[in-house]
Amino acid sequence: MRTWRTLSLRTKLTLWYVSLMAIVLTASAVIAHLYLSHSLRRAVDASLGEQVQLIEAQLRALEEGREFPGSRTERLAIAPAFIELITPEGKVADVAATSETDRVPLHPETLERARKSRIPIGEDARTRDGRAIRVVTWRVLNARGEVEYFLRAGYVTEDIRRAERKLLRTLLVTTALALVVASLGGLLLATRALRPVDRLTRAARAITARNLKERVEVPPSRDELARLADTFNQMIARLDEAFERERRFTDDASHELRTPLAILRSDLEIALRRERSAEEYRHVLRRCLEEVLRLSKLTDDLLLLSRSESGRLVLNFAPLPLDAICRDVIEQVRPIAETRRLNLTLQESGEPLLVRGDPQRLRQLFLNLLDNALKFTPPGGRIALRMERTKTRARVEVEDTGCGISQEDLPYIFERFYRRPSGETTGAGLGLAISRWIVEAHGGRIWVESELGRGSRFIVELPLAGTAQE
Ligand code: ADP
Repeated sequence: MRTWRTLSLRTKLTLWYVSLMAIVLTASAVIAHLYLSHSLRRAVDASLGEQVQLIEAQLRALEEGREFPGSRTERLAIAPAFIELITPEGKVADVAATSETDRVPLHPETLERARKSRIPIGEDARTRDGRAIRVVTWRVLNARGEVEYFLRAGYVTEDIRRAERKLLRTLLVTTALALVVASLGGLLLATRALRPVDRLTRAARAITARNLKERVEVPPSRDELARLADTFNQMIARLDEAFERERRFTDDASHELRTPLAILRSDLEIALRRERSAEEYRHVLRRCLEEVLRLSKLTDDLLLLSRSESGRLVLNFAPLPLDAICRDVIEQVRPIAETRRLNLTLQESGEPLLVRGDPQRLRQLFLNLLDNALKFTPPGGRIALRMERTKTRARVEVEDTGCGISQEDLPYIFERFYRRPSGETTGAGLGLAISRWIVEAHGGRIWVESELGRGSRFIVELPLAGTAQE
């Protein structure tokens, strides 16, 4: 069984449209019919009322022995089937009828109503042979205001009723026909209106992860469907970008893993080609260990980045003294700075810098920055870590007098796997990408100012604990 939910939008729209039309058309037909029959009744009542009042005037003139002005037939709008004169007690005193069958029995309630009414009372009835008739009753008062007699007149409305019924039937048949036309028209309209949706569906189906470069056609109109197609294309573009990023990440990651693995393999193969001395073996193993360390740092970084991007990396936030962390990190790298004959200084702000953060990640952040400064500054250079406190933020600068970064490289250095093309270093280009992620996860920001050949300054700003984050 097809339920409402399983129907196509086209069918649903048509059904809605046709139902609405059916309600409107039927209501109009019924209202037209009711209005017509009501007006016809009122017209008959008015004529019959006039009729009985005319008779009253004639009788009055007769009683008073004066001439009734005007001819009776002139003033007759319709010819009554019967006219009765009825005593106040309800007895028929006089009758003028075209045929006995046209007469209608008298109801005492009607007389009661007529007695109190200031206008003639009309009612529907049936003649003795079952035809529709409209009867009007009118009370005639004497000089003292008492009912002297009643006058009743009937007019056979069977023809009018038949015409009314015919009209109603015609209206209903026309309504039904209009509905058939409306449903066909509605179906046609809905089909036309929804054709772009069908096209969109087909196009969307054809788009897979392999052909994300394809786009659906945006209709030239500026309507909802054009917006839908446009939104759809934007979504595909975002997906394309995400897939592309993913693919690049996997490519770059495999590429990065290949180099140390190839070195390892060739070192091991060469070492195994012939018998070697213990010293030679030690040498090879040391080289291998270096590569393995590089590999494990790389895989750690890759794992961290991929987890951070998918939101699976949980940071353990706690209130931390940033100044203490910086001091620790400086002490950690001091031996390397000394062996490379670099002047390493720490400039404190003199105020406690309390931030909310993950100690392990913040340490990693400053180690990355210092590690780069150490790597890219030639012996004899200076490296300074400066701390400062603004109203709501802790600011840490890592400055060096190293080789600096060219204007072309500057926009990219925070991207993953980005290394300066000269490639004199051993890093995989993940350090700054990780650093930026750490800073942003702490609600802060990081940027760099650098000049080729003169040095670089990396600036990190983190919100102080207890202040609202921007
Ligand atoms: P890596 O792990 O290879 O150092 P990073 O993401 O840390 O990668 O750095 C990306 C690139 O930015 C480096 O290859 C280098 O060219 C440049 N860079 C980073 N820090 C400095 C610095 N202090 N001085 C000059 N260049 C730098």
